[in-house]
Amino acid sequence: MQPTETPKAPVIKCLPRPDFLGGMMFWCPFCQRWHYHGRGNGYRVPHCTSNDSLFKGNDYKIKMMSKAELREIRQAIDDYLNQDKR
Ligand SMILES: [Zn+2]
Repeated sequence: MQPTETPKAPVIKCLPRPDFLGGMMFWCPFCQRWHYHGRGNGYRVPHCTSNDSLFKGNDYKIKMMSKAELREIRQAIDDYLNQDKR
């Protein structure tokens, strides 16, 4: 069933998928797992498996993080991963 596009659908910023160039993923706080989506910003049918999910039966919009945001996060991740090596 196609979800009704709700004007107040939450916008979820996504990270690039490691397994699919241009695909997007985000960590779902309800399912406690990654949700994987294809290319393109916009409305999606929630991939929730948790019946308690607030996304279930609603729609959400996904949006890839900007390259500037990703570079900033990459730097932070690198710093975090390398902090014990110094
Ligand atoms: Zn979910």
